[in-house]
Amino acid sequence: MLTSNLERVKENILKACARAGRDPSEVHLIAVSKTKPVEDIRTLYDAGQRLFGENKVQELCDKIPQLPGDISWHLIGHLQTNKVKHAVGNAVLIHSVDSLKLAETISKEAGKKQLVVPVLIEVNVAREDTKFGVYPEECEDLIAAVSSLPGIRTEGLMTIAPAVENPEENRPFFRKLKQLSVDIAAKKIHNVSMNALSMGMTNDYEIAVEEGASFVRVGTAIFGARNYGTGEL
Ligand SMILES: *Cc1c(COP(=O)(O)O)cnc(C)c1O
Repeated sequence: MLTSNLERVKENILKACARAGRDPSEVHLIAVSKTKPVEDIRTLYDAGQRLFGENKVQELCDKIPQLPGDISWHLIGHLQTNKVKHAVGNAVLIHSVDSLKLAETISKEAGKKQLVVPVLIEVNVAREDTKFGVYPEECEDLIAAVSSLPGIRTEGLMTIAPAVENPEENRPFFRKLKQLSVDIAAKKIHNVSMNALSMGMTNDYEIAVEEGASFVRVGTAIFGARNYGTGEL
């Protein structure tokens, strides 16, 4: 089941690339394993999947030692400053930087560990009250401020699109994030690259690929529905 789900998602990504005339090697699938057991992750690992995403630092740190060391763990959820020390060095990419305070905390921790931490800036493109992220018009100022900090490097942008019935409704938001990344890249800010664009989830990843995603974050379509109703997760 898990393996055939994975294959189906990968096929859909290939088809979306073909429709958009994109090179599939530019699109990376992150299997979002939050709330799911390590056995499921192991099954997908054995099927060749290497990028996994978690939205909680605690869960990330619990799972890492139980699984092979060549997994690339992506931290995709909101990060509180008091959790930064556990995220730095464990996540290959932090997708969710949304304030200068958080970036400063990451920078300090990176200094202690002598690392350079790649991050994405989370943008609330659809301006939803319930979502984290900076508004598009705030994005460049935040990136400029982050660019002067040591130990942290902005690699691109991330967005979480609204939950909608018809994924086509999210196409304008993906297009807007792509345009924002092109505009910011044109500013050639020191220590900033706009190579990464993290957008698209189970409901809308094919549209996101068509609109330029370099990372899609897919949970439910691979692992099945999540159950938040029972247990500690
Ligand atoms: C849970 C989550 C996903 C995956 O969502 P699905 O709809 O299950 O694919 C993607 N991105 C973020 C930030 C998430 O928290």
